[in-house]
Amino acid sequence: MIANHSARASHNVKTVKIAIIGGGLTGLMTATLLERALAKQPNQADVTSNNKADITIFEKSRSVGRLATRYRTNKDTDANTNTDHEVNKQWQWAFGAQFFTAKTDGFSQFIAPWLDSGLLQPWCAQVVELLPASDDNQPPTIDKNEQWDSTHARFVSTPKMTSWGRALADNLASSTVKFKTRVAPLNDQQYNSTTKKTELFDEDGASLGQFDWVICTAPNGQAIELMADSGFSEQAKILKPEMLACYTLMLGWDNLESLPESLNAKSLDDKSSSAWDVAYVQESILDRIFVEHHKPNHEHILPSVTIHADNEWSQQQVDEDIEEMTRQLLAEAKQALNWNDDTAPSQVDCHRWRFASTLMPLDIEGDEKPLGLLIDKKNQWIVSGDWCGQGNIESCYQMAVETVVVVTGVLGK
Ligand SMILES: Cc1cc2nc3c(=O)[nH]c(=O)nc-3n(C[C@H](O)[C@H](O)[C@H](O)COP(=O)(O)OP(=O)(O)OC[C@H]3O[C@@H](n4cnc5c(N)ncnc54)[C@H](O)[C@@H]3O)c2cc1C
Repeated sequence: MIANHSARASHNVKTVKIAIIGGGLTGLMTATLLERALAKQPNQADVTSNNKADITIFEKSRSVGRLATRYRTNKDTDANTNTDHEVNKQWQWAFGAQFFTAKTDGFSQFIAPWLDSGLLQPWCAQVVELLPASDDNQPPTIDKNEQWDSTHARFVSTPKMTSWGRALADNLASSTVKFKTRVAPLNDQQYNSTTKKTELFDEDGASLGQFDWVICTAPNGQAIELMADSGFSEQAKILKPEMLACYTLMLGWDNLESLPESLNAKSLDDKSSSAWDVAYVQESILDRIFVEHHKPNHEHILPSVTIHADNEWSQQQVDEDIEEMTRQLLAEAKQALNWNDDTAPSQVDCHRWRFASTLMPLDIEGDEKPLGLLIDKKNQWIVSGDWCGQGNIESCYQMAVETVVVVTGVLGK
């Protein structure tokens, strides 16, 4: 909430209008931290420095970014009437980010309230290495790799991966999220040097308002298009990262009994079986397998498995027919999990992410160096997003923190 001001001070509060393009985690965390920072700004001694944030987040889709959950409800066919009715059980797949880390103190403190409420929970997953058999009828080789623990915890959002994004959006006090609103690419006429504001438009040419700051948090490829003709002073840097695609396969079974042995067994000590939650797949176009119904607070869902394909393989096939890709991935998954006609999944779905993973050119020491925020000081435009950092959820927070430093730094002058 914006702090209460005295009656005298409230006359001098300046409203700072901020547009955030993108309602993924970077956009939502940026709005959250800007609200908090600007709520702290009012200064009784110098009322002219008081600022009130009026933040609008524009999101082209109807939901919150690459934290994505797909679900399907089980249907039963009534033999008498031959009609389907829903039975109250769902398959559920976190088909974008599966979990996240919190390696810095700042991010650990940020997530603490949701850990306390149980919306975020550590996932102490048993991780294995899985080598698919070369022969269709043989089980895969499964070896223990590591057990995630609370010291280097991986967190999941419950009951769905999207729940946290929704909670962040719901907790915003003075920001508005406009879903289903696609911001049109900017041009060099949109910044008015007299008013020092930028007018944004939607794709039909309707005005979305005039803003003191524009913060773009779209994925890299979309940021390139949004800023291409805008005269953005850091445009050359947006082009630096290479984004890799990811195909994601989602599989579902009707009950635990119908799972293949590779997914159903209880003990890892038995070499032919496996009680595991996450598999790093070896020598395959599949990269990682996640057992959704083993996640904390996911016991109620029907058996659901999400498989991310290898990023480089996905990028090579990025424009191929998705049906054909689904067929290829399914054949590989069958090899990896070794199902037969009786234990085959009843549900199969596939999603193609065009911008899944960030690759930065290596520096002279051979290390990847993150870009950091891209700032056009004159126009007060910032280009941000996970890809300006390490390309993960913790980077969204880091970029939000850096954005607040830039905006409040200018406002404090
Ligand atoms: C397959 C996959 C697996 C992953 N696994 C992990 C993981 O295990 N751990 C981890 O930490 N991270 C993981 N990530 C990365 C993580 O999902 C991202 O770091 C994070 O979700 C990025 O958030 P963001 O807000 O920067 O971008 P996004 O979530 O992409 O949000 C940007 C938003 O901008 C919107 N947008 C774009 N253009 C416009 C426009 N013109 N107008 C309006 N809105 C627009 C988009 O619709 C989108 O919602 C994974 C990502 C993928 C794809």
